[in-house]
Amino acid sequence: MSDNNILVFCEINKGSLAPISTEALAAGRMLADASNGKVISLMIGENAGQIAGQAIQYGADECYITDIPELADYQTEGYLSVFQTLQDSITPEIIIMGQTGVGRDIAPALAAYLDGAATLDCVELAIDADTGRLLMTKPVYGGNVWAVFETEYTPQIVTVRAKAFEALAPDSSRNGEILVLDLNIKQDAFKTRLIEIVPEQVEGIRLEDARVVIGGGRGIGSEEAFSKLEEIAATLNGTVGASRAACDNCWVPSTRQIGLTGKIVTPELYFAVGISGASQHMAGCSGSSHIIAVNNDDGAYIFNEADYGIIGDWEPVMNGFMNKLKELDVG
Ligand code: FAD
Repeated sequence: MSDNNILVFCEINKGSLAPISTEALAAGRMLADASNGKVISLMIGENAGQIAGQAIQYGADECYITDIPELADYQTEGYLSVFQTLQDSITPEIIIMGQTGVGRDIAPALAAYLDGAATLDCVELAIDADTGRLLMTKPVYGGNVWAVFETEYTPQIVTVRAKAFEALAPDSSRNGEILVLDLNIKQDAFKTRLIEIVPEQVEGIRLEDARVVIGGGRGIGSEEAFSKLEEIAATLNGTVGASRAACDNCWVPSTRQIGLTGKIVTPELYFAVGISGASQHMAGCSGSSHIIAVNNDDGAYIFNEADYGIIGDWEPVMNGFMNKLKELDVG
């Protein structure tokens, strides 16, 4: 593979470059350096012009922007038109974006639109030395196995899982061109329109952003028990997640569910407290740097997945842990 353009779609979050986009840029940079390629970023939305410089600092060689009012909010067809415009001029071999709500929606649509192929939720990317094609690694079978995929279609479109790649340190000495896209987009032509955005009500740190997550399962037995986990999580500047069984029991809102049908978390430390370790749960937390399991059944499957295991009743174990944190003056 030589002289390839790698397009990284960057999302804007609260007026800044979204953290997952800095990670996608790092992935793009790594592939571009391995293939003598160029990283071209794309930013759509309000203030894109002001934020574009951040994409350069995080590894892009060029940044295309558009801040036209018609695309102030995400709109699948509108965004597809932007990608089509870019595709015609820069013909990227690879398109990288975050595994976010937008990424999950646009990547497959884009694959169909551009006759490419989309592989979602990748955790590793590399260039195949023999074929020059992209090797895309992603968890399959509920996170039990990682599989490596290669496609014969171009562009090769991928979404990357949060925290699977480490963002580069921003380098303010990097130079790159910022180009404004010339677009003629008519909102009337869209078949769908955004009526309202209802933000998820989150108290404290978002599960996806937390460095410490304490997951509670059926084994902790009650809503009150979650208050105890919340107290410990707050001391560690973390947050609380749950298994589906705990959510189904209405001990915590379903927005706290971790797993195949819940959120994917990749904290530095994940506590699984009273959780059996079903594959559907592990699909949401197996990317954690360290897992500590607390379970009173020494045969619980979670102990196969955990880095550290404590066999015992969760309450005295977690109380003891909290006392130790107080003794060490943590929090
Ligand atoms: P259990 O499996 O009941 O485990 C409770 C554990 O607590 C046991 O290991 C027990 O030994 C331990 N325990 C009991 N008492 C104590 C105590 N006093 N102290 C310490 N330990 C104790 N699940 C998810 O979590 N997330 C998902 O996204 C998800 N998606 C699913 C999608 C599909 C299509 C399907 C079929 C299932 C899905 N599930 C999901 C459900 C999943 O299969 C499990 O049923 C669920 O994860 C079990 O939750 P649990 O570990 O809390 O409960």
